[in-house]
Amino acid sequence: MANIKFFSGEQVPLEMHKVKIVQKLDLLPVEHRLEAMTEAGNNTFLLNNKDVYLDMLTDSGVNAMSDRQQGAMFIADDSYAGSETFNRLKNQLKEIFGMDFFLPTHQGRAAENILARTFVTPGSIVPMNYHFTTTKSHITLNGGTIEELVIDEGLKVTSEHPFKGNMDIEKLSELIETHGADKIPFVRMEAGTNLIGGQPFSLENLKAIRAVCDKHSLLLVLDASLLADNLYFIKQREAACRHMSIREITLELASLCDIIYFSARKLGCARGGGICIKEEQVYNRMRELIPLFEGFLTYGGMSVKEMEAITVGLDETMDEDMISQGPLFISYMVDELSKRGIPVVTPAGGLGCHINAMEFLSHIPQKEYPAGALAAALYIAGGIRGMERGTLSEQRNPDGSERFSDMELLRLAVPRRVFTLSQIKYAIDRITWLYENRKLVEGLVFTEEPATLRFFLGRLEPVSPWQEKLVKQFRKDFGNSL
Ligand SMILES: *Cc1c(COP(=O)(O)O)cnc(C)c1O
Repeated sequence: MANIKFFSGEQVPLEMHKVKIVQKLDLLPVEHRLEAMTEAGNNTFLLNNKDVYLDMLTDSGVNAMSDRQQGAMFIADDSYAGSETFNRLKNQLKEIFGMDFFLPTHQGRAAENILARTFVTPGSIVPMNYHFTTTKSHITLNGGTIEELVIDEGLKVTSEHPFKGNMDIEKLSELIETHGADKIPFVRMEAGTNLIGGQPFSLENLKAIRAVCDKHSLLLVLDASLLADNLYFIKQREAACRHMSIREITLELASLCDIIYFSARKLGCARGGGICIKEEQVYNRMRELIPLFEGFLTYGGMSVKEMEAITVGLDETMDEDMISQGPLFISYMVDELSKRGIPVVTPAGGLGCHINAMEFLSHIPQKEYPAGALAAALYIAGGIRGMERGTLSEQRNPDGSERFSDMELLRLAVPRRVFTLSQIKYAIDRITWLYENRKLVEGLVFTEEPATLRFFLGRLEPVSPWQEKLVKQFRKDFGNSL
């Protein structure tokens, strides 16, 4: 993607690829969207994809592949052991990260399972900039706890800070002093910090963390699932890196880490995952778990076709035109929505555009799930599927009371190379319409509430017939239009 200037003076993100294969989409009439949302129990996870126009649920496993990736899938070497496909992937990773050892896994959380089983024991403390859902689960499953040490600015919804994903170095040093380095199996940094809005860390911050790790002989682990966005932001926002290529930044960043793991559902635009390791003895500690949980050492539960696609996808990630697409579309969305006074997380990060539902629907109490209500309303307003990232995604306290989340966000993911600018403009338009009519939107209440991970399978209903009113208003404003 190139950010170019139009004759009118407007800055516009311009696609540096063309469409070669398409999937037909339907945009159902608003009355049918209401029906589909009701059938899905007002939970966007339970919608059928055929009823969705813009699927902005996630960026996981839904990024568009290139012609080179598709072509590479034909030359996959399908052998159980010692396949050439594995060697190609391993060599690509070595070229990009400079690490000698690689263990394949079937996706990102599988890498987390291997890491947690190897290093985490009861009483372990794992410092990190911020947690990701599956990371935290694997660490706690093995008896450890996590400590989130993201800088204070990272938890502010709106900010000007270019690197809200940075770790607070003083807090890290204090934590090590308080508990002792023996309790800490590794320090974890997450690129493009997912749950705080796809926010990056800086190379400078990672260097400072490395220095602390060296002082206490600690391993530094990088979760590189969202590295592509983070690399782009380092190049754009960090003065010292402006003249470095993406490859140079990647190599320098990787040289600071002992282990780099990733979900290839995001990094590499295919489906899979893996762990890159600097030292042989660290590799040997993990190696035996791969055949046990994943598959033989040369495929780790992945299809060889996907592995070929990852190899090429990783190479393409070193191209600024490729990795800028997500961030530039997201930044366009964030700017346009901000201009209209619509509350969004700033600065624009990677992964998606995050709408602040707490402010958008400030009249809805948190116990009636404002972010969940906004997700349902936006699907009705435009056939757009987002993901609730608020109280609904939390688990209740042991006494049954609600645990209110710090932020109530509606995440609208922008999978890589998938949407066009007119589709992004459409999303902006329908969000704007919804904002004008926000007083019509009211809360939701559970009708079926699973005890664990309720956001995946839970069903809800509106507290009043507000959705019918929304449909009526839509017809009034848009006439017969979809
Ligand atoms: C998606 C993700 C994971 C888990 O990867 P899966 O392939 O979905 O298992 C881990 N960490 C981060 C930061 C992620 O975004």
